[in-house]
Amino acid sequence: MGHVKGLICKECKKEYPKEPIHVCEYCFGPLECNYDYEAIKKVVNKKSIEAGPPTMWRYEGLLPIDEAPKVGLKAGFTPLVKAKNLGKVLGIKNLYIKNDSVNHPTFSFKDRVVAVAVSKAIEFGFDTISCASTGNLANSVAAHAAEAGLKSCIFIPDGLEAGKILGTLVYGSQLIAVKGSYDDVNRLCSEIAVNHKWAFVNINIRPYYGDGSKSYGYEIAEQLGWKTPDNVVVPVAGSSLITKIWKAFHEFEMLGLVEKVQSKIFAAQATGCAPVTTAIKNGSENIVPVKPNTIAKSIAIGNPADGYYGIKTANVSGGYGEDVSDQEVVESMKLLAETEGIFTETAGGVTVGVTKKLVEQGRIKPDETTVICITGNGLKTQEALADCFETPMVIEPKVNSFEEIFENSLTV
Ligand SMILES: *Cc1c(COP(=O)(O)O)cnc(C)c1O
Repeated sequence: MGHVKGLICKECKKEYPKEPIHVCEYCFGPLECNYDYEAIKKVVNKKSIEAGPPTMWRYEGLLPIDEAPKVGLKAGFTPLVKAKNLGKVLGIKNLYIKNDSVNHPTFSFKDRVVAVAVSKAIEFGFDTISCASTGNLANSVAAHAAEAGLKSCIFIPDGLEAGKILGTLVYGSQLIAVKGSYDDVNRLCSEIAVNHKWAFVNINIRPYYGDGSKSYGYEIAEQLGWKTPDNVVVPVAGSSLITKIWKAFHEFEMLGLVEKVQSKIFAAQATGCAPVTTAIKNGSENIVPVKPNTIAKSIAIGNPADGYYGIKTANVSGGYGEDVSDQEVVESMKLLAETEGIFTETAGGVTVGVTKKLVEQGRIKPDETTVICITGNGLKTQEALADCFETPMVIEPKVNSFEEIFENSLTV
């Protein structure tokens, strides 16, 4: 059985029953899940977690569902890779990649939030799943709705990458491209939600959805040997993931699973859409919305729902915010692939590029333990690298033909 008592307003602390709602009707603050930590303490410990499945569901006692998970049973527990080669290039010794580019089933961290959101939507009795998405959420909602045998209606900004579009359509989802940015799509969805009694995973199911991200933080700590790292570099879109990694570390501390958390959380954005990192740099607590213009489309949210809390997380933790140009994103995608054999999407180029900058600025020190969040797969954003490589050499199927080019032009 689950350990969520109900929902609670993050601002005024007014309590609500467990329902598909997300905004406090008194102060308009966001609602979040209110856990019974005393009950959790009695059943969740290192042993119970280690005895669980090699998926995010090993933390089921800390996730906001009341019945056994219905979909996404293989999500999570992705590799935490010691990145020696990349560390050498960046000049830091204890570097790790938390690699959700191989998450199941749709190769991004969104499989975590959607596994929880769709399981919860089924508990609530919904028959249609919906969302506003920058691409990865669309893929994951479509896949999980198909797995559950539910209908899905998904809204994206027009102009997304081909891989993200095809990777949604293939599951038989109803996909609608809206003229405008993600922020236009999200506003439209909030209006549509009034007339259609659907489970909008990042609107009315948001309090439950968001907590799926906590599993990413739990895994980092468990995979480091029940330790929280000195630094985490997190890609920021709506600011859900960054706040939930922080929450996950502190829940582990509260449960006595890790020592006092001293992690610095760094927000990473693309310069073409950097409302959160700009605010952090300016010492401001508030978001000034921007109009996104970057190849890092999966994290291009100009008016982030939890932006205020994302800024706060970086500041309170002693971290910072930094952003990189599209050119740096591309170079960093190539760097990660060449050094670690990991092909990430543009958002991963953002976190690798930002980490490089933070090391150069002395904000990340060589001996500290640093985790770079890699949250999506490069095969979905091939357009970003379209101009980077020559087409391969073509030869006749003859040894001579190979030896000729081997002599003249190969670099093996
Ligand atoms: C959605 C997404 C994020 C972060 O999203 P938040 O809204 O900040 O939680 C990061 N990386 C990728 C690849 C994503 O798709």
